[in-house]
Amino acid sequence: MSHNKSRRLHDLDINLIEMTLDITKYVISRITETDPKLGYFQSEEELKKLTGETITADGITGEKAFEIWKNILAPASAAIDHPRHLAFVPAAPSRAAIMFDLVASASSIHGAYWMEGAGGIFAENQAMEWLVSLTGMPKGAFGVFTSGGTAANLSAIVTAREYWRSKDPANESKKGLIITSIGAHSSIKAMAKVTDAEVMLIDSEEKMLGSELEETINQLDEQTRSRLFAVVATGGTTNAGIIDELDEIAKVCEKEEVWYHIDAAYGGGALVTPKTRSLFKGIERADSVTIDPHKWLFSPYDCGAVIYKEPELAKKAHAQEGSYLEIFKDTGANGFNPSEYQIQLTRRVRGIPLWFSLAMHGTKMYEKAVERGIELAHIAGEMITNHPDLELVREPSLSCVLFRKKGWAPDDYRHWTYENHKAGFALVTPTKWKKRDGSYETCARFCFINPDTTNQDIQDILDSM
Ligand SMILES: *Cc1c(COP(=O)(O)O)cnc(C)c1O
Repeated sequence: MSHNKSRRLHDLDINLIEMTLDITKYVISRITETDPKLGYFQSEEELKKLTGETITADGITGEKAFEIWKNILAPASAAIDHPRHLAFVPAAPSRAAIMFDLVASASSIHGAYWMEGAGGIFAENQAMEWLVSLTGMPKGAFGVFTSGGTAANLSAIVTAREYWRSKDPANESKKGLIITSIGAHSSIKAMAKVTDAEVMLIDSEEKMLGSELEETINQLDEQTRSRLFAVVATGGTTNAGIIDELDEIAKVCEKEEVWYHIDAAYGGGALVTPKTRSLFKGIERADSVTIDPHKWLFSPYDCGAVIYKEPELAKKAHAQEGSYLEIFKDTGANGFNPSEYQIQLTRRVRGIPLWFSLAMHGTKMYEKAVERGIELAHIAGEMITNHPDLELVREPSLSCVLFRKKGWAPDDYRHWTYENHKAGFALVTPTKWKKRDGSYETCARFCFINPDTTNQDIQDILDSM
């Protein structure tokens, strides 16, 4: 007890050294695993029973806590980089990027202001320049890494709304309106709520067309039209990998003078390969773009990005004022301040894992890794087409494949999902697809990110149906 009393939180003692070695060993073993355990959730009560009290006045020791982590908690979490984890949008961070996430933590860099985080922010910005170059947006366009696509979308929507209000004092008191389609990600609606904007949805899950947008705008009464401040198109829908008609939508936005946001949180990765780049024609005309490096650009969580055609407009919307912050605005400290372009003040330099991995491997390797995801989707598409009991719901798009088993009801898909997950074999979840007649069909869905997924993995999963 007395021994414990003399110890302090930041002590560098033998316990700490041992813990450092144990954790380093664990990290090395986790990131070198090629077939990690898939993991399966347990209820909170079950976990509590297994772990016992973990937070106590005197601590349970690092050794004990780490045992609990390794033996109970880690296995109760899904390994989203598992090669047969094909649900939602999986992840497959490169090993170099994961290692540099540790460096980001260990370096204690405050990534809000250049004055404090210059070196880290410089590295982030190198990666950002590459991201911006993928979009083909004009000179001057730039962006910042966010906690994810949701925060990126929110930052863009706030910028758009503030810009719209700055153009006409009458807009100050109006509730803004955003037009998007039902293919848009749920975060668009959620973030519209945060900004108290209304969302109007074009009722098609297929590619949103410029003509549909134009028609929708033309049908607005004058009062409603005066509230329209932004259009959100999707560069790779989360459900099916569909890319809206970005170029035609750009034309409409330019003509109507409304902010054009493209949400390419998932699909943006496909900008790296000439094989799919042309599908995004028109993205260079956007006012803002969301791309999540933690999805298809192999960064660890969490790392999104928002890019603006005119970053100054974002700064007008997001720069924070405070007597304690004034020092950052002095000329001596002038530089790029990431906090001024998105909603967050204090932030880790979450772009440096991407920077390090890009610097180490070069951009060509990213091209190949993304192309593998697209190839896997095509391979899966062929296997499904050639299978007597399976059918594609639609042709694979980017790395998403929607398919059905003939005769299956929604419960069959659910049951199959849990069986495979529980067995530690695969995590593939059902989704719904809105048909042209307006009804929904429950079907199975693959989303490929991990280049280590094998053709055999796909075959085995299809065989399990
Ligand atoms: C995943 C996704 C988002 C949300 O991104 P988070 O990083 O989960 O916040 C937004 N839009 C699209 C198209 C997505 O696929």
